[in-house]
Amino acid sequence: MSSKGAWKVAVVPGDGIGPEVLRSALAVLDAAGAKFEQVLVEIGFGRWKRLGLAMADEDLETIKQCDCVLLGAITTPPDPDYRSILLRLRKELDLYANIRPFRSKAIDLIIVRENTEGLYSGLEEVGAEEARTLRVVTRRGSERIAEKACEIAAKKKRLTIVHKSNVLQSDRLFLKTCQAVAMRRGIQSEEMLVDSAAYNLVVNPQRFDVIVTTNLFGDILSDEAAGVVGSLGLCASANVGMNSALFEPIHGSAPDIAGKGIANPLGAIRSAAMMMEWMGETEKATRIEAAVQWALDNDIKTPDLGGGCSTEDVTDAVADYLERP
Ligand code: ATP
Repeated sequence: MSSKGAWKVAVVPGDGIGPEVLRSALAVLDAAGAKFEQVLVEIGFGRWKRLGLAMADEDLETIKQCDCVLLGAITTPPDPDYRSILLRLRKELDLYANIRPFRSKAIDLIIVRENTEGLYSGLEEVGAEEARTLRVVTRRGSERIAEKACEIAAKKKRLTIVHKSNVLQSDRLFLKTCQAVAMRRGIQSEEMLVDSAAYNLVVNPQRFDVIVTTNLFGDILSDEAAGVVGSLGLCASANVGMNSALFEPIHGSAPDIAGKGIANPLGAIRSAAMMMEWMGETEKATRIEAAVQWALDNDIKTPDLGGGCSTEDVTDAVADYLERP
C-alpha cells in the first residue's frame, strides 16, 4: 500500500481485446465502490511493434512500486526475438501460484498451477537439427504451490494432484512433495495422471474440487476447463506471490475479434473481483461475482456464449446491477 494507505494498482491494458475488457473491469470496480490508485503502464506487443521494446526496465520498476497488477491481455507472437512479458513478470515478481476458478452448472473447480518452473523454465538450447527445453521441478517450488493448493482445498474439500510421474522423473518429485504437504496439513488428496485428468474433466468434471499441477499441464487443463464452462471469455485468474499479485482473464488478446466490441468482459470482471478478494475486500468481490451471475442468468451475453450483447451492454448491465440500492 502507498504511504497514503491506498492500494496502488498497475493497470496494463495490453493488446487486442485487452484494453476493451480492462475498461469493463475498471467500470465495474468503480460501480462496486472500489477505491485504489491507478498507475497506467503501456507495455506489450503493440509497443514492441512501434518501438522495438515490449517492456522497458523502467516499466518493470514502476510495476514493482505498485501493490499488484490488473491486466487486460498481451499478445505473445511466435517470434524468437520476442520475449514473453507475462513470463518475465511472473518471474520478476515471483508470482509462483496461478489460481484459476471455473464455475458453471457443470463444474466448480479451482486449478492451482505452478507458475515459475516446469517446461516454462526458459532454459532452452536451440540448434538447426535439435532443440531442447529443460523441465525444472524443485522441492521448494513444489512445496510452496502445494501449500497454496492445500490452503484453498481446506475450504473446498478434495485436492487432486495431477502429474505424469510414470514417464517423467521430475514429476515424481512434484507428486511426492505435494503428497507430503497434503498429509502434513491433513488435506484429503488423490493423484491422477494428466491424460486421465484431461479425459475426466470432460466426462465427469464434478469429481474435481481443487487441482494442483505443474506449469504446462495447468496451462492446457485450464483452457479445457474453460471449454467445459462455456467460453474462455468467462474465466479469471490470479497470479500470486509472497509480496505481489497479477490479475488477468485467462484468455489471450483474441486478435480475431479485437475492435469489434463483442469481447466477453466477464473474465476480466471476475479477475477484478479476485483482486478485491486479495485486497481483503471480500464483500465487494462477492457482490461483483453475484452481479456477473445475474447477467448470465438473465441471458445478458456476448456472442461467444450465444448471446447478442456487446461488451458495453454486458459491462453496463453488471455495473447497473451493482449500483442498485
Ligand atoms: P493470443 O495470441 O493473445 O494468445 P489467441 O487468439 O491465440 O490470442 P485467445 O485470445 O485465448 O488466443 O483466443 C482463443 C479464441 O477464443 C479466439 O477465437 C478468441 O476470439 C476467443 N476468445 C478469447 N477471449 C475471448 C473473449 N473475452 N470473448 C470472446 N471470445 C474470446
